[in-house]
Amino acid sequence: MGGNEGIGILQLECPQGHGVGRVLREAAFHAVQYDPGAAVGPREFWPQEDDQGRFKAHCRHCDKPVWESSATLQGKLSELMASESETRASATLQYL
Ligand SMILES: [Zn+2]
Repeated sequence: MGGNEGIGILQLECPQGHGVGRVLREAAFHAVQYDPGAAVGPREFWPQEDDQGRFKAHCRHCDKPVWESSATLQGKLSELMASESETRASATLQYL
């Protein structure tokens, strides 16, 4: 009954479909965080103030930087958080 509202996990992928982390909010009262993966580094608040409107990550498999506009990713995450039935989605980033 709407228990999922306000939470969401957006899986981020490079153009080849490799995971490059995820943006998530695990509870409605939590802040949004970027999780690069436990093996890569700690979670950080997202978006960062100094990202200049672009979210950037690095695909370890392709060894290439990837990016997407922060607004696009925020839009997708908001859609997900507004949904009562969906808590997961994925977004494909572009090579820089
Ligand atoms: Zn890749």
